[in-house]
Amino acid sequence: MDAIKAAVDAIRQEKPRSVVVLTGAGVSADSGIPTFRGEGGLWRNFRAEDLATPEAFARNPLLVWEWYEWRRSIVRTNAAHRAIASLADALVVTQNVDGLHLRAGSQNVIELHGNLFRARCVREEITRDASNPFAELPPHCECGALLRPDVVWFGEMLPEGAFAKAGIAVRDADLLLVIGTSGVVFPAAGLVSLHHGLSIEINPQLSAISSSCTFAIAAKAADATPTIIEAIRAGTDR
Ligand code: NAD
Repeated sequence: MDAIKAAVDAIRQEKPRSVVVLTGAGVSADSGIPTFRGEGGLWRNFRAEDLATPEAFARNPLLVWEWYEWRRSIVRTNAAHRAIASLADALVVTQNVDGLHLRAGSQNVIELHGNLFRARCVREEITRDASNPFAELPPHCECGALLRPDVVWFGEMLPEGAFAKAGIAVRDADLLLVIGTSGVVFPAAGLVSLHHGLSIEINPQLSAISSSCTFAIAAKAADATPTIIEAIRAGTDR
């Protein structure tokens, strides 16, 4: 029996009520947004690890902002984001900074690594909307200091409380869906080990967490997610 059919059968049997969806870059790969570690992960020959750091920003804020402007210009939702959003009471815990779960309509989203569509003053720490392209790069705050993308860079701490809240929800959920994450970026990757019930991964490749999940579905997010979400909704009439 293939994994998707087995997962649907398990959902029909268990009828999970509380659902947490943990997502990584792969859920947005079907929107044409490159993952960091997959094909097409390079931008102008730079690796993400050389751009998404406080050191890179200190060295060359213009280069880092150009990369974020480019990333903001290419994001759009796909069938996976939209299917997840149709499960109105699910909690979405995402490592992505593309804001696509919110844009698709998910109401309950923890963005562990921040959001591309917000900027933050490096001096005053105040955040602001950055939905529109800036007239000038790198952008500055009225106070004269640089603005930076309001995202968590490699080596930085997660937003206070976000990880603890996600951990409790993952632990207590009836079902954990893990979509499009390589499972190598901590602490987010560690969330999966907190869950002991039914868990389903959707990822075309085996990941570091495939073996921790009850079912690992080898498929693209946009192809398999709608089927899984439909089974959850059918089981509990929602
Ligand atoms: P990653 O790049 O390490 O891994 C991506 C995973 O997605 C891989 O396991 C790959 O096999 C899988 N994948 C590729 N195409 C897929 C598809 N169509 N459907 C489902 N899965 C697919 O990404 P990560 O695990 O999220 O961790 C890296 C960090 O990268 C995170 O901190 C995240 O913030 C950041 N990131 C975010 C974005 C974004 O916001 N869209 C994009 C790139 C990287």
